[in-house]
Amino acid sequence: MQVRGKTILITGAGRGLGAAMALALAERGANLALIDVDAAGSDAVRGACRALGVRAETYAANVAVEADVIMAFDRVVADFGRLDGAIANAGILRDGLLIKAKDREVTGKLSLAQWQAVIDVNLTGVFLTGREAAERMVKLGNGGCLVNISSLSRVGNFGQSNYSAAKAGVAALTVVWAKELARFGIRVNAIAPGFIKTEMVASMKPEILEKMAAGIPVQRLGEPQEIAATAAFIFENDFVNGRVLDVDGGQRL
Ligand code: NDP
Repeated sequence: MQVRGKTILITGAGRGLGAAMALALAERGANLALIDVDAAGSDAVRGACRALGVRAETYAANVAVEADVIMAFDRVVADFGRLDGAIANAGILRDGLLIKAKDREVTGKLSLAQWQAVIDVNLTGVFLTGREAAERMVKLGNGGCLVNISSLSRVGNFGQSNYSAAKAGVAALTVVWAKELARFGIRVNAIAPGFIKTEMVASMKPEILEKMAAGIPVQRLGEPQEIAATAAFIFENDFVNGRVLDVDGGQRL
């Protein structure tokens, strides 16, 4: 897909990877629909995209709330008159061990609230975003391209029962949708980033971050631009379909 003049929706676009992907696509001439929980959160990104000469609008929606997602997609199609791509990027962390115990004394458990919050945003949010994007792309009849953001953690990361389960689910949805939607001219892929320098990762303890960088073959965290370039590649290469692209500096958990 040539992205110039096309409309691409991005969830969680206010900062981090979402913001970097918006800018990379704007640089290539795409118009952007920027979704975040709080529309004001993506005002700065909208301004930066517009400065690159493209159309950019912000919309408030919690990706875990069905009515929010439906309304946002309706407004985007009404405003732009088309929808060519969507990136299901919004995600959160609520890390915790399944069980915390010492000497047979259990001192803590991963709470249902921690579990549910991550499943709601990181898995249900991707489901709703993909479903609503696909519905509109089918109705508009021009095909399209979906990009889901999974994670290196999908293989199972210590302290991330909720996050790993959600991201493994996102990888599976990607394969299912690629098979189901190809007949409508819609490609579906995912990116599984390793540890990338965004606010989400910065919220982790410095000693854990240091350890992490040391365990990455390239000896550094990734840059948001490196994920953004991967998203642009997926949009532009029409033979990439049903794949989860690992972009992680060679790290294996
Ligand atoms: P950030 O926390 O920096 O940004 C996430 C964005 O999503 C924020 O703008 C946030 O809004 C928004 N958001 C959160 N919850 C919702 C929601 N319910 N509805 C709509 N928007 C929401 O994260 P990253 O940029 O680091 O991560 C982006 C994606 O990449 C996530 O899916 C993450 O799991 C994945 N990822 C990131 C990695 C990394 O190393 N950074 C590694 C692997 C995967 P607000 O600020 O208002 O909360």
